[in-house]
Amino acid sequence: MIPIVDIHTHHISNREDVISLRSIDVNEYRMQNELINLRSTLGLHPWYISNKNSIDNLAILEEKIADKTIYAIGECGLDNLIDVDYNLQIELFKSQILLSDKYKIPIIIHQVKSHEDILKIKREMNPNQPWIIHGMRLKWAIAKEFLNAGMFLSFGHHLLNSDSHLMDAFLQTPLDKIFLETDNSAIAIDDIFVKAAEIKSMEVQTLKEIVYQNFKTVFKK
Ligand SMILES: [Zn+2]
Repeated sequence: MIPIVDIHTHHISNREDVISLRSIDVNEYRMQNELINLRSTLGLHPWYISNKNSIDNLAILEEKIADKTIYAIGECGLDNLIDVDYNLQIELFKSQILLSDKYKIPIIIHQVKSHEDILKIKREMNPNQPWIIHGMRLKWAIAKEFLNAGMFLSFGHHLLNSDSHLMDAFLQTPLDKIFLETDNSAIAIDDIFVKAAEIKSMEVQTLKEIVYQNFKTVFKK
């Protein structure tokens, strides 16, 4: 049976037919260590960073990467709409990119109004590991820039809003660069696959197989 891959979620799934990667912030992990026992990704989310504990949090992240308990670093990235020092966001994003390359582990990226900086950092640092931009809601012109920079794109419940710019971006994104996700939403991953397959005019089963293949490519599983 081909599993359904939910590449980025904040919910716990007990379903055997779903591979879901639960995204955990390091602060959250410090309060609830057992979270990491699930399939998970761990990172310093830009919403929750501060000067106070970032050194400690990076050290904890590195320890968990080194002992191979997590699938990817993330979510991490840049958010231009929050009241968190943007320079600190950039510094910690770069630190996590270095860890990703040092330990050869993929990275899952949160981006809000920061695509130019993310592209610039990618060009400057020229990292080797797969990058997945999650929560895609950008139009094709920007999606294309991410794809040209070699990134994967993950789409979620925004696809169900029938926003024509997003549908167009999804339609034009090559199948071997696509992931799907539930993130924080209460919508089932199955419903997101149904909508995504409809936009791509393909069978849900075929899309499941393609996304599972992408999962195996990125995570070498
Ligand atoms: Zn998220």
